[in-house]
Amino acid sequence: MNWEDSLTNIKGVGPKRKEALKNRGLETVGDLLSFYPRKYIDRSVLGCPDSISEEAEISIRARVASRGRVQRIRGNLTIFTLPLLWEDKKISAVFFNQPYIKKALEEDQEYFFYGKIKITGSATKIINPQFVSADNPGNFFELTPVYSHIAGIPNNAIQKMVLQIFDDDLKIKDHLPESIRKSEHLLSIKSALKVIHLPKSPEEVLRGIERLKFTEALKINMGIMSNSFDKKYSDIVITAFDGINPVMNRLPYELTKSQLSVIDDMIADIKSGQVMNRLVQGDVGSGKTVIAIIAACLMAQNGYQTAYMAPTEILAQQHGRSFKELLDGTGISVEVVTGSIKAKEKKEILERVANGEVSIVIGTHALIQEAVDYYNLGLVITDEQHRFGVKQRSRLSLKGNQPHTMVMSATPIPRTLSLILYGDLNVSYIDELPKGRKPIKTYCYDEASFHKIVGFLEKEMQKGRQAFVICPFIEASEEMEEVRDTETVYDQLQEKMNRIYRLGCLHGRLKNDEKESVITAFNRGEIDCLVATSIIEVGIDVPNVSAMVILSAERFGLSQLHQLRGRVGRGKHQSYCFLVTNSKSKETLARMKVIVNNSSGKTIADEDFRLRGPGDYFGFKQHGLPKLGLLNPMEELALINRTKIIAEAIFQSNEKEMMNFRDEVLQSFYRDIEEVSFT
Ligand code: ADP
Ligand code: MG
Repeated sequence: MNWEDSLTNIKGVGPKRKEALKNRGLETVGDLLSFYPRKYIDRSVLGCPDSISEEAEISIRARVASRGRVQRIRGNLTIFTLPLLWEDKKISAVFFNQPYIKKALEEDQEYFFYGKIKITGSATKIINPQFVSADNPGNFFELTPVYSHIAGIPNNAIQKMVLQIFDDDLKIKDHLPESIRKSEHLLSIKSALKVIHLPKSPEEVLRGIERLKFTEALKINMGIMSNSFDKKYSDIVITAFDGINPVMNRLPYELTKSQLSVIDDMIADIKSGQVMNRLVQGDVGSGKTVIAIIAACLMAQNGYQTAYMAPTEILAQQHGRSFKELLDGTGISVEVVTGSIKAKEKKEILERVANGEVSIVIGTHALIQEAVDYYNLGLVITDEQHRFGVKQRSRLSLKGNQPHTMVMSATPIPRTLSLILYGDLNVSYIDELPKGRKPIKTYCYDEASFHKIVGFLEKEMQKGRQAFVICPFIEASEEMEEVRDTETVYDQLQEKMNRIYRLGCLHGRLKNDEKESVITAFNRGEIDCLVATSIIEVGIDVPNVSAMVILSAERFGLSQLHQLRGRVGRGKHQSYCFLVTNSKSKETLARMKVIVNNSSGKTIADEDFRLRGPGDYFGFKQHGLPKLGLLNPMEELALINRTKIIAEAIFQSNEKEMMNFRDEVLQSFYRDIEEVSFT
């Protein structure tokens, strides 16, 4: 079988499965082999009763102590609790919505159970475990790859398909030159894919991942080098610089020293005659937007257009408002183009962009996927928050006539890393917050204190402030009854606040216009308390909000918590953030402490890195979750550095194999780099 062969060559893939696979973008053998397992289940680790930890996923050998009982909870949710004896420790197996399991487990018999451990008070539970008779465990202990769900195709069917592909004499060309593969002690691409899909041990999987990540990192380095090969002179002529002064004078505040120096950097870039490539790095709330506005204004006054890409539609709308407000009356026209505006309106706007009537176009990243014709694009600003998409940036830059580029980022990346990632892009740092900001008072509580916290929110709202309540999920989940969701919390608060305060709810499943109207209402102060998912993390800016509660806070990463908290404390009021978690795990509490005690994104990122440790490279240790197809540059700096040297050697080599490889990579660069997303 070959890489390009259709998946219909595999036994068992009929029209129905073909369609299901196609919906996931899987049509060829190569597509399926690039569909990496989301995680692996390793049931071979047997836990021991005196050393268990919360949240761990382990196997235990236990005896069914009694028959257990099925409880019916609201609606059609059932919980089957089965008491077990694990050596001499009591533990219960808890099954959500699987009452039929009661029949499958016999009293006084021994089984292996595999699942997540929960400890509440003195009770220990294993949640929704898989199980097998201890007398006949079959293949229970083999490492099992788990793929993202594809409707209509069970996990083991994917495993069988992959097995067939490898059994049927798979041919894959390895593009990586043999000499590099040998000197770096890497697996061939075929062996790497084989151990990733059909692993015998976790060590094997790591070897496979190492090979794939190596190639990804190498390609990124080669792409960046090829980019910086052609030094670009700019055709954009900017002569009038003082047009921005009136706009700066209109600001209701004074710019910070850092902000002013970024503006100086930007002006110096533009005066240099070369194409500007500038990364503006500043913590949440440091005031990056106003710099974007001033840069765009400079372009407009010299007759050039600016495209501003926001990470989400909500943000695009919000920035649209900020730009329009500040540029009102200057004659500079600003338009927002997003997926949700009506076709007719969009067509009109795009026409006005094409004939130069619109100076500033704001939109989501999707903006660049569509054919937007600019009259004369002078500047592309990308607001990346904390995502990087190397490819997207390059692509939009290709559209105009070598426009200047500015990237706004809140990710505190180490300087060396930004050099590698951004190549010759220059970096400006905003390392101070606007004057008068009070540090956000942050606390960590358990769920039992939630009603007290709500009381606190009510006091704030009584003073005219607003509040956020953040939940990890949208709706209640059977598997994770203890994790908060916006629906349940909204209902609870509605009841508690006795309809005195106005509540709103915001999450990703609302339609775009529904989201928009919730946000508008919140902005106008027509909603006092917004219950939301982390959707608000990206840049919502409402200075009147003084309190935030983050429920099931252990579910969020540290940098995400920092981003979320950055949504409060944007005005003159003292602001508060409450992290709420019921977790007793030492690690979780240490993580919460980092947020409670620190306010700088940089320190939090460093602490995060320190707590997780370099040993936890692929997250294998904690979650058994290697992340494939994802390179995390913060953690894999060493790999990026190592491949940088090799990339340089490839560019200098005149060996045939090396040159061929270089050509192949460069040709496929724009296609491939898109698949490498940084998180
Ligand atoms: P971010 O860097 O996270 O994108 P924003 O640009 O959204 O931050 O700015 C956060 C808030 O700070 C906004 O309400 C903005 O108007 C305000 N702001 C920006 N610069 C200053 C300043 N120099 N002084 C006071 N407030 C400022
Ligand atoms: Mg911002």
